[in-house]
Amino acid sequence: MTVRMTELSWTDYDRKVRDENPVVFVTVGSHEQHGPHLPMCCDEVIPTAIAEKVAERIGALVAPSIVFGYKSQVRSGGGNHIPGTISLDAANLIGTIKDVICELARHGIRRVVLMDGHYENTMMIAEGVDLALRDLRRDGITEIKIMRIGYYEFTSPDAEKAVWPDGFPTWALEHAGVMETSLMMHLYPELVHADRLPSHPPADFPPYDVFPMTWENWPSLPKDGALVASTTASAAKGKLLFDEYVQGIAKAVTAEFGLKGTAQGG
Ligand code: ZN
Ligand code: MN
Repeated sequence: MTVRMTELSWTDYDRKVRDENPVVFVTVGSHEQHGPHLPMCCDEVIPTAIAEKVAERIGALVAPSIVFGYKSQVRSGGGNHIPGTISLDAANLIGTIKDVICELARHGIRRVVLMDGHYENTMMIAEGVDLALRDLRRDGITEIKIMRIGYYEFTSPDAEKAVWPDGFPTWALEHAGVMETSLMMHLYPELVHADRLPSHPPADFPPYDVFPMTWENWPSLPKDGALVASTTASAAKGKLLFDEYVQGIAKAVTAEFGLKGTAQGG
């Protein structure tokens, strides 16, 4: 049976919820420029691909994604002024996250994993979860447990050395960098323009933000929207990272929700 909730009939979904108390993954992504070489869907499709693989392994479900994220910031995503990026106001994203959690809870779901694919979403997710839990508590639903996972936080020191042998540039600068490019080469090679990989040095940002976000206010922002070079990206590195994320996240989710004997396999 498919792990995609959206492909199930409501009757099959309802039966699974009642019989198995399944974990449900929800990606919170973004529609954001990722340089000239990657599609704008990276922050949604990468965590969703990881969630689907984990879900197959542990008997979980994957809900439809929240595809729009919080506004791209210059020092972590190039900025919200770049064409193609579609973002939500914070209150709308927080409300959407809260509504989706409350709807899943109404179905009887008590185990939710929010898969965060976009750095700027972090605190919006924390707030959406907090508001949902507050409402649910008032409705008498107290046995619900929610995880937030930034998949990239499952990168081990060994993988870091293998993927960035010349040194890791920081997660903020990795926007459209070696990690995302490699993962996309592994998962969706037809969407990667391998002939356009940025080769410029890492963005040299000041230690502060300037608003409004414009090209004029940010002369140190690379004009292609990528914050770092990705010429050392490869599908092999993407597979290494993908396998590591699936393994690590399956293990963490199994442990947090006390699932029994489900997360084996390499
Ligand atoms: Zn991204
Ligand atoms: Mn992003």
